[in-house]
Amino acid sequence: MSSNRTFFVGGNFKLNGSKKLITEIVERLNNADLPSDVEVVIAPPAPYLALAVSLNKSKQVSVAGQNTYVKASGAYTGENSVEFLKDVGAKWVILGHSERRSYFHEDSELIAEKTKFAIDSGVKVILCVGELLEERKAGITLSVVEKQLDPVFAKVPKEKWASDIVVAYEPVWAIGTGLAATPDDAEETQLAIRKYIATKIGEAEAQKVRILYGGSANGKNATSFKDKKDVDGFLVGGASLKPEFIDIIKSRQ
Ligand code: PGA
Repeated sequence: MSSNRTFFVGGNFKLNGSKKLITEIVERLNNADLPSDVEVVIAPPAPYLALAVSLNKSKQVSVAGQNTYVKASGAYTGENSVEFLKDVGAKWVILGHSERRSYFHEDSELIAEKTKFAIDSGVKVILCVGELLEERKAGITLSVVEKQLDPVFAKVPKEKWASDIVVAYEPVWAIGTGLAATPDDAEETQLAIRKYIATKIGEAEAQKVRILYGGSANGKNATSFKDKKDVDGFLVGGASLKPEFIDIIKSRQ
């Protein structure tokens, strides 16, 4: 990892939680001796956002929504607004997760609109991209990711990328399967993603954008990514609910 990009660990709780579990996780973070040079973002389900914010005592930890919509308010039953996120003190939102893309049919155009809307409203975005297994086998990983990113380049100005977007490269075949990408494979793809970003926003800005790896990252394998310079952190699903989340946060020490 380049020394000028702050190591970033996100916890995506997905559709998991209870007041008890959220309290346990946040208290574990409060009591952990977190390295000073890491940024941590936890994304509980929407009903628990305010609880997570109110329990959190660490300046290094912030809270994210798992989704939002492209309207601030109105007759959109069931949706979540970036204004709600801000109102309860959440600073980030995860957008473009493969589960949103596959189960809820969100396409890259909508994800780009959501990304722009969130950023314009003052909420930062963890933008997820990644290929399916058959796409990897067909050797089209990079073009898949490029197509996922292109509508975002069209909507979000160059100077906003480094400050307001963290890209999470999450190969779909690695999510929740226990089969993480190898550190070499993640680095190869993430370096290529950074080069592509550079063609769109310029080399200097691209060097500042954090690119996370996600997909079966855990307390054991996280350290093996330590010397991969384009892996600027992790987006963690299952393991973010467990004590090993702290090990991932400490994996660069
Ligand atoms: P996983 O999920 O760590 O459980 O594989 C990662 C994610 O979906 O962000």
